[in-house]
Amino acid sequence: MIRIAVANQKGGVGKTTTAINLATALAASGWKVLLIDFDPQGNASTGLGVERATRDRSSYELLLGECTLAEAAIATRVPRLDIVTATQDLSGAEIELVEHERRTHRLDAAISNMPVGRWDICLIDCPPSLGLLTINALVAARMLLVPLQCEFFALEGLSQLLQTIERVRGRFNPGLSILGVALTMYDRRNRLSEQVAQDVRACLGDAVFETVIPRNVRLSEAPSHGVPALIYDHRCPGSEAYMALARELIGRLPKPAEAA
Ligand code: ADP
Ligand code: MG
Repeated sequence: MIRIAVANQKGGVGKTTTAINLATALAASGWKVLLIDFDPQGNASTGLGVERATRDRSSYELLLGECTLAEAAIATRVPRLDIVTATQDLSGAEIELVEHERRTHRLDAAISNMPVGRWDICLIDCPPSLGLLTINALVAARMLLVPLQCEFFALEGLSQLLQTIERVRGRFNPGLSILGVALTMYDRRNRLSEQVAQDVRACLGDAVFETVIPRNVRLSEAPSHGVPALIYDHRCPGSEAYMALARELIGRLPKPAEAA
């Protein structure tokens, strides 16, 4: 199973929107997809219509070893897309785990203990911090997708994220690679958006996906209906962009022989 963390310690840059809609686009392309909601805010769970009352086996229980991945994963209304939900409890996990051994490898172990074959790909929606939760996601993942919002401070904080990635590579997960940087909330009527996109490409080169996610109100409306934008309005520019991003992402994945 391919494991991708969607990470950026800044809040509000489009991590969850990207995780939900990319997961849906991949599922629509025939992939069996698991989305792990790893943010105590639980926005990915809410955005996929999972009621809080039904989240009794969430990523918190998974992390603390109180359930297995097979027990935590539940079906969504999107065919081929399952989710491990998140609740506020997860915010306490960072402190509770301090006493556990191998506390940086809890998510990795939970995923690795799962028999292979149920899913082709797993996306982990990270919280807006570089704490133990995000470290667990970076240890569990083989690749990283970084959403960057097209705004003035887009690159601010990126060096911190890159430092964290280097640390995780050096100590725990040497194979961790950056699959790509996705520009989000691009507003073509705003010249700043264009400027930021150019600057980010000049700075990060080929790491940046060609596909740009536009600012699109349908993307922000969909979660309140408990469905991905790709179901809420599959023809809106945001949905089309996420389908294109999924195609580009698939093209960047290592071929099965290399991944083995
Ligand atoms: P994060 O997970 O990084 O905190 P979100 O995906 O939750 O970011 O996005 C933050 C807010 O911006 C949410 O209200 C979301 O609906 C909205 N949003 C995200 N991407 C877009 C977009 N491309 N166009 C319009 N609104 C967006
Ligand atoms: Mg989020």
